[in-house]
Amino acid sequence: MTQKIAILGGGWYGCHIASSLMALGFSVRLFEQNNRLLAEASGNNQFRLHLGFHYPRHAGTRIQSRDGFSRFIERYSELSRPVEQNIYAVPKHTSLVDFDTYKLIMTATGIPYHTIDSCSIRLANIDGLMRVDERVILIDKARHYFSTHLRQILSLEVRIDDISQDRKGVFVNGERFDYMVDATWGHFSESKIDRFFEPTLLLYFEAEPGLPALTFVDGPLYSIYPTEERTIYTLSSVPHTPLGHFKTSEEARRVRDSVDSSLVEAKLKAMVEQALENVPDFRDKFRFLGPQIAIKTKPVGNNDDRSCSVERQGRVFTVMSGKIDTIFFATERILSMIESDKDDILQDVPSSLLDTIRFKVDQLGMKVNQLGMDV
Ligand SMILES: Cc1cc2nc3c(=O)[nH]c(=O)nc-3n(C[C@H](O)[C@H](O)[C@H](O)COP(=O)(O)OP(=O)(O)OC[C@H]3O[C@@H](n4cnc5c(N)ncnc54)[C@H](O)[C@@H]3O)c2cc1C
Repeated sequence: MTQKIAILGGGWYGCHIASSLMALGFSVRLFEQNNRLLAEASGNNQFRLHLGFHYPRHAGTRIQSRDGFSRFIERYSELSRPVEQNIYAVPKHTSLVDFDTYKLIMTATGIPYHTIDSCSIRLANIDGLMRVDERVILIDKARHYFSTHLRQILSLEVRIDDISQDRKGVFVNGERFDYMVDATWGHFSESKIDRFFEPTLLLYFEAEPGLPALTFVDGPLYSIYPTEERTIYTLSSVPHTPLGHFKTSEEARRVRDSVDSSLVEAKLKAMVEQALENVPDFRDKFRFLGPQIAIKTKPVGNNDDRSCSVERQGRVFTVMSGKIDTIFFATERILSMIESDKDDILQDVPSSLLDTIRFKVDQLGMKVNQLGMDV
């Protein structure tokens, strides 16, 4: 019988998991509280298709990104585009690693790069530069793709507040499902992972097309990255983008919803000052357009873990999202756990190994007792 699966959350994770499970013949329903898909973090971020360069302090994240990158391009070939000059820069005085160490880490991870001496914008206080192949995710195209593809199974503007489950199923909005996937990035279920919620503020700028993407690593630094609109860039800063750390989703949403113009102006000043340290012409090249506000969910710790994992409680799977490129790992974990439920048919199967050995011994015309004596 076809198994029914409810998915909570229409971000990248919910959409990808829904689409993958549908393709495998599951009967899927996707619940999203907003009136469109990719409305929260998935539609409000830096839109970088990572390869791992952002994470010199976490091997698991680098490896998931490296592998997820090629799978993303294969599966969603029309949903990202290359960036002409995509540059990672290690500054001289403010980075936690020097350029040689940074290169060693990336070489050991097997992610290709080219070291370069300069780029088309003037830079200051730099230890080393490399060009990489990370891409831009095309968010409007992605929204259109999933809205069309998942049309039949979508319940938009439906917020799920309660679910219940027994041994045989999960009840979501009064309907029984075989399983439920919580893809709300921590906003619905409790988790065993020690995590916190971080409201965030990025800034949009307008600039001439073709300026480089500049990511300064590693530590409390910043990045300037193009969007799907070639003249619009985001500026994100490790010290200035977060608006605090909160234990609950409610607290984080309150802070996100209370952002006002004076906060945006203060952040704009701080972030531009930071950018001027390495991009002296920032003010001439970039014109402020407006803020982007979202909420990140992160595991507690300073090692920059952004890997993806899935926990299971009965018939409910809770996804701890990594980056967008790590969507594939979530689907695989869920499928593997669903498959493992079929393993109870194996409980009373006796071992036939001794019979197999005896058969071979008889076939060879050997005397079993002799075996022990001869060895
Ligand atoms: C500032 C910022 C920059 C980032 N930059 C990048 C980047 O450049 N590259 C990258 O790969 N990743 C980046 N990320 C991370 C990326 O955005 C996340 O990994 C990804 O969006 C997580 O997707 P998700 O589907 O798990 O969560 P979300 O996109 O948050 O989706 C969860 C969905 O669940 C819905 N929901 C919640 N509760 C309920 C409920 N009770 N009932 C119904 N629906 C519910 C929400 O409305 C939401 O649509 C960034 C994140 C932020 C915040």
